[in-house]
Amino acid sequence: MKVAVVGGGLGGLAAAHALLAAGHDVHVLEEHARAGGVIGTSTVDGYVREHAASSFLGGPPHGALALCEALGVPVEQASPRAKRRWIYIDGKLRALPRNPIELVRSDLLTWRGKLDLVREPFRPARTDRDHDESVHAFAARRLGAEAARAIVAPAVTGIYAADAHSISLEAGFPRIAALEADGGLVRGLAKQAARGLAGKLMARVTGKRTAEGPSRTRRGMFAPRGGLGALIEALSQRLGDRLRLATQVESIAATQGAKSIVIDDETFDAAVLAVPAHHAVGMVNVPELATRLRDFRRAPAALVYLGFPATAAPDVQDGFGALVAQGEDVRVLGFVFESTVWAQRAPAGHVLVRCIMGGGRDPAAAALPDSELIATAVADVGTVLGITARPTHTSVVRWSHGIAQYGVGHRDRVRSAVAVARAHRIVLAGADYQGPAVNDLCADAARVVDEVRSWAG
Ligand SMILES: Cc1cc2nc3c(=O)[nH]c(=O)nc-3n(C[C@H](O)[C@H](O)[C@H](O)COP(=O)(O)OP(=O)(O)OC[C@H]3O[C@@H](n4cnc5c(N)ncnc54)[C@H](O)[C@@H]3O)c2cc1C
Repeated sequence: MKVAVVGGGLGGLAAAHALLAAGHDVHVLEEHARAGGVIGTSTVDGYVREHAASSFLGGPPHGALALCEALGVPVEQASPRAKRRWIYIDGKLRALPRNPIELVRSDLLTWRGKLDLVREPFRPARTDRDHDESVHAFAARRLGAEAARAIVAPAVTGIYAADAHSISLEAGFPRIAALEADGGLVRGLAKQAARGLAGKLMARVTGKRTAEGPSRTRRGMFAPRGGLGALIEALSQRLGDRLRLATQVESIAATQGAKSIVIDDETFDAAVLAVPAHHAVGMVNVPELATRLRDFRRAPAALVYLGFPATAAPDVQDGFGALVAQGEDVRVLGFVFESTVWAQRAPAGHVLVRCIMGGGRDPAAAALPDSELIATAVADVGTVLGITARPTHTSVVRWSHGIAQYGVGHRDRVRSAVAVARAHRIVLAGADYQGPAVNDLCADAARVVDEVRSWAG
C-alpha cells in the first residue's frame, strides 16, 4: 500500500520504519528541515544537551532498545552512580528509599506514613472499575496521603511534568492499573510473577514459546551513545528519500467510499497521522475527527542547562537526579544530573545539570524569557542542590507543546478518536494517544502496521 506518514517525530519515524519493513510504499512528510520533532541532541560549549527524551528503560521487548539494536545504533547503560533518586520536600533533599531497610531508615515519610504504605496489600481493590481515576486518587487510596504526596506525585512530575491529580491512572500508568485489577500492588505483583512462572513451566513442558513473543530485553536505563539524536539519524538514514523534509502538510481529505486519502494534492491508500493532535485539528477535513482531536493536549516545557566545575557541585555526582514535591518554594520541577548518568556529556572536570520547568504543573514558567528562566534555575540549584558557584554554561531549549498530558478519561477519548479515524483510513500515532515515552512510540509501530494491513487487498 502507498502510505503517508504525516510528521517525522519519533512516533512517525518508528511507524514508517515498521511499515517499510512490512513491505509498504511509505512516505514521511515532515514540515521541518530536520526530523525528530522534539527529540534532538546538540553540543554547546562542550556540553551535550538532549532537547526532550534522554533515556529509555531496557525492559519492553519491542521498545527503543530493540529498535536501536535492529538499526545498529550503539547504546550505553546509565552509570551505576545514577541509581539514587532524590526528592526535595519540606525544604530538604531526601533520598528515595530503594528497599525496605532504607524505607525504615528514611526521613521521607513519618512513621504513620510508612505504616500506611505497608498496609497496601491489606486494602480492598476498587470495585468500580468502569471509571478512570487520577493517579493521585489511586495513590492516596492505596498507599496513604503521605506516600501520594512524597513519592507518587513527584514521580508523575518526573514523567509528565504534571500534577498527579490531573493524570489518568489507566492511561498514564497502565501497568499499575493492571496490578490494581489483580487485587492491589503487592498482590498483583505476586499474581503476575506466579503467572509468569506458570507460563515458563508450560513452555518448558510443551517446548513452545509463550504468547508474549520474544523474551524481555535487558533491565536498566539506556540511551544511544552520544544521545537520542543518534536514533533519529539512523531512522532517517534507513528511510532515505522516503523521508521528505521541509514538507508542510496543509490538508488531509478523506475520499468518497473511504478507499483512499488525499494529502494536499497526492493520493495515498492510507495515512498515519503522527503530528501532535493540536496540529492535526487544522489539517484534517473530517469534522468529526477534528472535534475529537481537540481533546488532546501537550503541556509546554522549558529545559535550562547549567554547567559547573565539578568541584563546585559534589552533590550532583550521586544519583540520577532530584524531583521537587508540589508546594515547595522552588520553581524547577526536577533536575537531571546528565553528566553523572551518561559519559561524556560535559567537558572534563565539569558537570551538566538539566533543569525542567513548566509542564502541566506550572505552564506559565515555560513562557518566561531566557534570562529569567536561567536566573530562576540558578537560584533553585542553590536552594535544592546547594550549588552556589556561578555556572560556566547556561542555555535553554523550550517547547510550546512539549509533553503529552493524559487526563482522566484519556483511554475513552482515544478509543473514540481512533474509531472515527479508522473509518477514513487514518491511523492516529505519536505521543498523544497510546503512550508518550520513547518506548511506547517504538512499540506502537506494530499496532500501526496491523491497522494498515487491515485495509490491504
Ligand atoms: C522536555 C521533554 C522531555 C522528555 N523526556 C523524555 C524521556 O526522558 N523519556 C521518554 O521516553 N520520553 C520523554 N519525553 C517524551 C518524548 O520525547 C515525546 O513524547 C516524543 O518524542 C514525541 O514524539 P512525536 O513523534 O509524537 O511528536 P513530535 O516529536 O512532536 O513530532 C511531531 C512532528 O510532526 C511535525 N509536524 C507538525 N505539523 C506538521 C505538518 N503540518 N506537516 C508535516 N509535519 C508536521 C513536527 O515538525 C514534528 O517533527 C520528553 C518530552 C519532552 C518535551
